[in-house]
Formats: sequence, structure tokens, C-alpha cells
Amino acid sequence: MIRRAYKYRIYPNSMQKEYFARVFGCVRFFYNKSLSDMCDLYKATGKFENITPARYKSDYPFLKEVDSLALCNAQLDRNAAFKAFFRKQNAFPKYKSKRNDQSYTTNNQGSVKFSSNNRYISIPKCSRIRIKKHRDFKGDIKSITVTKTVDEKYYISLLVEENTECIKLLDNIIGLDLGLKDYIVDSNGHKYKNHKYLTKSQNKLAREQRKLSLMKKDSQNRNKQRIKVARLHKKIENQRNDYLHKLSRHIIDENQFICIEDLKVKNMEQNHKLARSIIDASWSKFVSMLLYKASWYGNTIIKVPSNYPSSQICSSCRYQNPITKDLRVRKWTCPQCGSVHDRDKNAAINILSKGIEILTKDGAHPDSLFMLDSLESSSKKPPLL
Ligand SMILES: [Zn+2]
Repeated sequence: MIRRAYKYRIYPNSMQKEYFARVFGCVRFFYNKSLSDMCDLYKATGKFENITPARYKSDYPFLKEVDSLALCNAQLDRNAAFKAFFRKQNAFPKYKSKRNDQSYTTNNQGSVKFSSNNRYISIPKCSRIRIKKHRDFKGDIKSITVTKTVDEKYYISLLVEENTECIKLLDNIIGLDLGLKDYIVDSNGHKYKNHKYLTKSQNKLAREQRKLSLMKKDSQNRNKQRIKVARLHKKIENQRNDYLHKLSRHIIDENQFICIEDLKVKNMEQNHKLARSIIDASWSKFVSMLLYKASWYGNTIIKVPSNYPSSQICSSCRYQNPITKDLRVRKWTCPQCGSVHDRDKNAAINILSKGIEILTKDGAHPDSLFMLDSLESSSKKPPLL
């Protein structure tokens, strides 16, 4: 089982907006009131008491009119904020302000339903809200969060429990994106940089190659320069192989399942920019190392098709953002859900989720899936590197 959030834009009518405003207000009231009362109690008694919504319902009867699960979730949120504070992970819980985005979370007890044409959604205490269901999901809805942004847009986020057999594997799976700036970026946001000495040699190679191209044909000097360039090429290759061996071994050691982009070699040939073609060449080398090391150690490499627009899709809400086609866009904010993305990390997350999709789909195409028999291959002793 994995839990994933699916976020959709909704278009509530005026009555529904009024209802949401009431719930936001009650949730905020309960949250702030209980937070302040708990602080006062702590000052007076030295003890923290977990104040529940029931405590206030007789004094503030308006609390009874809204979804009681929304209040329970506010209580859980508040406790989580306290916990984070006590563990020194966060500052002291903040009071909720009217000026920020407003939201509440409730749970699905079988009441969340889509209309047959998928244009409306019904949630506890509020039925037939117009929704733009731009993406489908499979699984059970566990909770629902309704959000109103500062600019008066409404969204609904569904936490869906998906039935995949991959659950236990999820701790051991990673997505990798070939970065332009960093060598590889993984789905946890870890960046593997090109080694400095490698970049240095590459710059030197570019310089020497430029010199070579300016030299007179068939001259003695040109011949010398050609040998110099060839030696540099060799040196870079050795440095790179050494680095790639360490890197691929590290990634194989850390992860059972590795999702990568299936980059075509022809992309490399079309590219005449030296730095880029070196990166591409080392990527194919890196992938081949991953593949054979996976076969020794029993890992699985999942190749995501190269036409999958991993750097264009928002990994939170799946919106496809056209501005990301520009490779210079390193950071972007999703216009649909407001998530802020680092280009390469976002791509790596998308490669990971596509990989999970491929891995869990029945009858996956054998070309896209390298399922290696781990028992068989691990019985062979892997050669030492
Ligand atoms: Zn988004």
C-alpha cells in the first residue's frame, strides 16, 4: 500500500463557499483556542493536556454545525506541531491566520463520491461540488483536504491509498535524473556532482581542441597537438570511468530498484556541443555499469521511456508546465498547485513514479523492465572492483 495525494481544482457555488468558510473558521478557532488554552494550562500546572474539540462544543455551539472530523484533524495537526516542537524539529506551533491559505481536512467514511460524468464530487456535509478531474486514480480515498488560496481559488486534495505490491520495496527504490548542471540528481534531491578534476580536464580538452582546429592542416604542430588531444581524451576517460564505477556501485548498494531515463544514443550524436556530448557519453556508460552491476547483485533497473516528459510535469499535481521546455528554467512554481520545484529533483521524482507505474503494471513490456532473477545472479560471485 502506498498513499499518494491527488490535487484537483474545484469550483464551489456560493452556498458551498459559505460552508467552507464556516469550516475554515471553526477549524481555525479550535486550533488557536486550544493552542492558547494548552499554553495557559502548561504555565499554570506544568502539564500538557490534549484538548479535544468536545471540550468547547457546549460553550461554542457553532462548532457542532460543521464536520466533526475536520475538528479532529485540526487536533491531530496541533499535536503533530507540538511534537515537532518538542523534538526540536520546528519552531513553536503558530496560530492560524485568516490572511493565509485556509484549509481543513476530513476523512472519507464512504461518503466521498464522484458523479457518473466525473464533473462533480461529494464530500462529507457538502455534495455536488464542481471539480476539474484532470487525472484519474485507482485506490481508496482516505482523507480529503479542502483549500482556499489567498487569491480565492479552491482545491481539493485526496489522499489515496493505492494497492501496489511494491510497498515494501518503496524504501529501496530511487529515481535518477541526468542533470545538466549536476551529474545525477536523485528523487530524494541528492545531487552527485561532476568531480572537479573531471570538469577541469574537460575544460582543458575543450581548449586544446579549439587550438587544434585552428592549426594548419598537415603541419608538424598540428600533429603534435592531435596526440596531445588524444592523450587528454584517454585521461578523461580513465578519470570518468573511475568516478562512474564508484557512483554506480554506491547507487546499487543503496537501492534495490533504480528507475532511470532510457536516453537514446542518437541524442548524443546529434549534439555537437562538447561538454554536453561528454555528459551524454558518460550517461550511457553509467547506465551500462548499472545494468551489469544490477545483474551481479540482483538489483532491478527500470527504464522509463525517453519520450516521458519528466522535467515538464509537476510531481505534486501532474500539471504539465510548458515553460520548462526551456532548459534554462532551473526552478519553477507550478501554476496549478503552487509547488516550488527544483528542475532536476522534480524530474527524478517523476522518473521514480513512472518507474513504479511500470513496475507494478501487469504485463509490463519486457524491454522496459529488466527483471533480473536475483537468486540466480547472486549465486555467481561478483568480481571485485
Ligand atoms: Zn502542481
